[in-house]
Amino acid sequence: MFWTKVFIPTLKETPKEAESLSHQLLLRAGFVRMLMDGAYTYLPLGLRVLEKIQAIIRQEMNACGASELLLPALHPLELWQKTGRDKDLGEVMLRLKDRRGRNLVLGPTHEEIITDLIKNNISSYRQLPLILYQIQTKFRDEIRPRFGLIRACEFIMKDAYSFDKDEAGLDRNYSLIFEAYKKIFLRCGLKTLITEADSGIMGGKVSHEFMAPAALGEDVVCVCPECLQASAAGESDLCPKCNSKADKVNTIEVGHIFKLGLKYSQALGANFSDIKGNLSPLVMGCYGIGVSRLISAVIEQNNDKDGIIFPKEIAPFEVIVLPLDVTNNEIMKEALDMYNQLNAKGFSILIDDRDERAGVKFKDADLIGVPLSIVIGKKNIEEKKVELRVRKTKETFILSKGEALKSVADLV
Ligand SMILES: [Zn+2]
Repeated sequence: MFWTKVFIPTLKETPKEAESLSHQLLLRAGFVRMLMDGAYTYLPLGLRVLEKIQAIIRQEMNACGASELLLPALHPLELWQKTGRDKDLGEVMLRLKDRRGRNLVLGPTHEEIITDLIKNNISSYRQLPLILYQIQTKFRDEIRPRFGLIRACEFIMKDAYSFDKDEAGLDRNYSLIFEAYKKIFLRCGLKTLITEADSGIMGGKVSHEFMAPAALGEDVVCVCPECLQASAAGESDLCPKCNSKADKVNTIEVGHIFKLGLKYSQALGANFSDIKGNLSPLVMGCYGIGVSRLISAVIEQNNDKDGIIFPKEIAPFEVIVLPLDVTNNEIMKEALDMYNQLNAKGFSILIDDRDERAGVKFKDADLIGVPLSIVIGKKNIEEKKVELRVRKTKETFILSKGEALKSVADLV
């Protein structure tokens, strides 16, 4: 794509309203803009990253045998009253009345909604096990939205639900998704600590959190330097496994999985008939990923003084071509040729076709974090060479065009 056709409003100055590094970089690099406290617009580059993360999530969830659906964001309050969670969530739940006087809710999560669906559409053990997931916009009436995408009132989540006939089935699905989560975060270039956690208002007995270490993180995790055990920091800073003094690490919660058991199926009457014809409540698990905040967590972990360093799997583009002087026909001809050849090979390419100084182009390329740049300037053309720059290491290589194409294929 051409820079002049994509909307990339980069900023030279750091916006004052942004408290965290990731929020500053998202604004400066032209990925998001704030509409109001807690609600954000994804600009074209931000949306590309979001879509790449969603594609990874879909691949790994589908590989677990899960199917995607889409539940409504607008719910009847009545359904939440049946489980009592309208009270548990209290003021966090965005409530409204429509013109017919119906009490409605903008969904903060979807356990009640999916259980109601399954209750009316599953009746026999023959239809089990089943894993369903969605990628949806959710709402929380945060008293203090903070850190850009990290604590917003409107945010995007992937939530999955497993339905089984017994605990053994739930254990199998839980481990399957546990492993899928490790792959998802690894592919997104995110380091996470996994802790056994409190199930809180979700209910159930067992839950695990996937916590991304980041300076601004509000959840503190203890990590044992001896046995590497991570735990939900309590009063003691001693490792629960080996009793050594543990280090405290600030983290952002990016994933949380729960063995819900029978909480929702019993409350909402979601039963199935077993092989003998007896009715039993479905055994459920639920599995969340904070998709939009994941972008911030990745940026918190992958940056330097010049901007974002995107891991290649979720970068908005894999390569940026930088013609240093767009008024020079020879440079533009070479740059477009490079662009077309890379495009034909299936790479995602941005070409900076702005009539800007070289310094501005280098700065912006570093800021938006594209893993590789191919620089085409006057000197390179005379030598029939191009310059390949690696964003992460700042290494540069002077190569022939053929060598550069091969290097891109090797590095991406
Ligand atoms: Zn230990």
